[in-house]
Amino acid sequence: MASIDNHLSTAELQALDAAHHLHPFTDSAALNKKGARVITRAEGVYLTDSEGLRLLDGMAGLWCVNIGYGRAELGEVAQRQMNQLPYYNTFFQTSHPPAITLAAKLAELAPGDLNHVFYAGSGSEANDTNLRMVRHYWASQGKPEKSIIISRKNAYHGSSVGSGSLGGMTGIHAQGGMPIPGIVHIDQPYWYREGGDLSPEEFGLERARQLELEIERLGEENVAAFIAEPIQGAGGVIIPPATYWPEIQRICDAHEILLIVDEVITGFGRTGKWFGTEFYDLKPDIVTIAKGLSSGYLPIGGSLVSDRMIAGLEAAGEFAHGYTFSGHPVTCAVALENLRILEDEKIVERVETDTAPYLQKRWAELGDHPLVGEARMVGLMGALELTPDKSARAKFAADEGTVGLIGRETCFGNGLVMRHVGDKMILSPPLVINHEEIDALIELAVKSLDETHAAAKAQGLMVAG
Ligand SMILES: *Cc1c(COP(=O)(O)O)cnc(C)c1O
Repeated sequence: MASIDNHLSTAELQALDAAHHLHPFTDSAALNKKGARVITRAEGVYLTDSEGLRLLDGMAGLWCVNIGYGRAELGEVAQRQMNQLPYYNTFFQTSHPPAITLAAKLAELAPGDLNHVFYAGSGSEANDTNLRMVRHYWASQGKPEKSIIISRKNAYHGSSVGSGSLGGMTGIHAQGGMPIPGIVHIDQPYWYREGGDLSPEEFGLERARQLELEIERLGEENVAAFIAEPIQGAGGVIIPPATYWPEIQRICDAHEILLIVDEVITGFGRTGKWFGTEFYDLKPDIVTIAKGLSSGYLPIGGSLVSDRMIAGLEAAGEFAHGYTFSGHPVTCAVALENLRILEDEKIVERVETDTAPYLQKRWAELGDHPLVGEARMVGLMGALELTPDKSARAKFAADEGTVGLIGRETCFGNGLVMRHVGDKMILSPPLVINHEEIDALIELAVKSLDETHAAAKAQGLMVAG
């Protein structure tokens, strides 16, 4: 049997990694100078690296390992399915029990009339599907010119050509000829950094109304859809003011604009509801899912599509779109088992009523730290705004991300994985995290903030700019 056990030394693994492995969103030259941290196993909320050091995984991998590591049931289901039917496509008017059963389960769990799923292998692929599907839908209604998609600056919808264009990340747009035409980006509801003197409520309304102004500018007859994350994740856990989403929903309804809600992070319990759509009481036409759908145990994504859209799409004949691994039997079986565990163990309910309130209370305490300007959290996803001057919501004079990177490396050194986005520290632990683990997490976060603060002072970085 081929083995991928960690039988090489860390230095040998790092050398091979540097020589042959290209990492996503990584400066290879910088990484290869220091060597990657090699993760070799994990259990519950803890990772173990090749040196045997334990790390509390405050990011659930990459926002996905919602049921935690080491659930053998998923491996057993995968093995059984691989032995029975490892692969068959769903192109040739064929189907198979895992794809069917998961589709029915998703229809049951999803809010409203989102009763149909188009499978993909990832969130990026699913958003590429959505881009084409909304345009195809309007064409089917005799309105092919209704094709522009409005998104938001600093949104993250994936990094393929389509999904990266839908997203609003300047770093992605700067490389490889993006964004593609027909996509426009309005401002984000990021009160802490962009709210100025407005109250969060006033600011939320102002930012939502930009959607209406943009629709009027472009002409309603030319706009297909608005796409957004309920809470921007990769952009830095940007939690919109309470006034934002109701106004967005009103505008989409008033102008016949399809609403695509990208729930790749917020789906499957992250907010304490099964979907962020329920948390914010939205009525989407399409919901993007991925990450937590399989708790990251296998790659899978998809688009949940409303009855209303399906009626139009079915009248239009073939949708010339699909992926070899759309509805892969093994990934569907594993996703189904993940959903069973989430349901049977009442993990989402526990987030809502127990662990999220507890972590939120402890997280808010970090807001008192001299380096922290704001500590915010919904469900189990949160951010800390690092600042040289708490009272002024000030930015650092140094390049954005300088202090954040010190923060991330300090956390790693202390045995805690928190990601930095610019000068924000962000958190999204496995949904199964318990009180004792939350206390350990907060203790490590405080220690890391103290050390980051000391390092920033020593390097003359505590200067507003
Ligand atoms: C991660 C993410 C994606 C992209 O998913 P991939 O599986 O990495 O392609 C899309 N949308 C959101 C909101 C995400 O967080």
